[in-house]
Amino acid sequence: MLKQNLHTHSIYCDGKDTPAETAETAAAVGFSVLGFSGHGTAFCDTASMSEKNTQLYISEVRRLKEEYRGRMEIFLGVEEDIIQRIPDRSPYDFVIGSCHFIRKNGQIWPLDYSREVFVQILEAFDNDFIMLAEAYYSSVRSMKDFAEIDFIGHLDLLTKYNEDESFVRFDDPAYVRCACDTIDALQNIPFEVNTGAIARGYRRTPYPYANLLKYMQEKGVRILLNSDCHDRTKLECAFPETLSLIRKCGFRSMLKMTDHGFEEADLGEFLDAYNL
Ligand SMILES: [Zn+2]
Ligand SMILES: [Zn+2]
Repeated sequence: MLKQNLHTHSIYCDGKDTPAETAETAAAVGFSVLGFSGHGTAFCDTASMSEKNTQLYISEVRRLKEEYRGRMEIFLGVEEDIIQRIPDRSPYDFVIGSCHFIRKNGQIWPLDYSREVFVQILEAFDNDFIMLAEAYYSSVRSMKDFAEIDFIGHLDLLTKYNEDESFVRFDDPAYVRCACDTIDALQNIPFEVNTGAIARGYRRTPYPYANLLKYMQEKGVRILLNSDCHDRTKLECAFPETLSLIRKCGFRSMLKMTDHGFEEADLGEFLDAYNL
């Protein structure tokens, strides 16, 4: 039986809880592996960790790692945005590579800030979603050369406000081609399945959308499941239904973080945690 989450924010960036509070909840609900992943400092993101908060974050997570040793494995990670890569990987057990921003007309826009901002971004791209998707996925593809990255965060973040398909149809061939080209370019790097937008009420299904997840399975891409937790009450948000989706897409295993790095674990171990 295996419960794991490697995408967890805290008060040191834009999360609600201290790492200690989240660790307490995780242990209480039976997690065996918990990874913290504060937002790496990004000049354009006030929600990212300041240099001072990065130091406080690192020391608190290291302390918790010792405190929980033998009961729950705790790992120190960071969510790096491609706009400002971390200066030094050495303090971290793992690095998530994400793209939250898009540059257009000399401006930098956050893709996941609000629906209103997203509409403005789309206007900057002449209301052409495919043009925006091409720019976004081309940024995401640049991570193929980032040696520090262990897995890719929320691949299709640009569909956060698209639950009703008002911006693009999830099966639009031009859109699917952009996304699948990106999976092909990055296929040696694992991808996360991320339930964060479900926790915040924007989506009913995880990133990546089911058709992209199926494509990953066909291509033999390795995955892991994360909640992108900003609130410890949502630590395992939508995990049962997402594990069922992962099984339905044909996956037989997911990655598990260990002291020696990532290892494949049978999907059954994750399903057992929810009696699936
Ligand atoms: Zn993110
Ligand atoms: Zn995150």
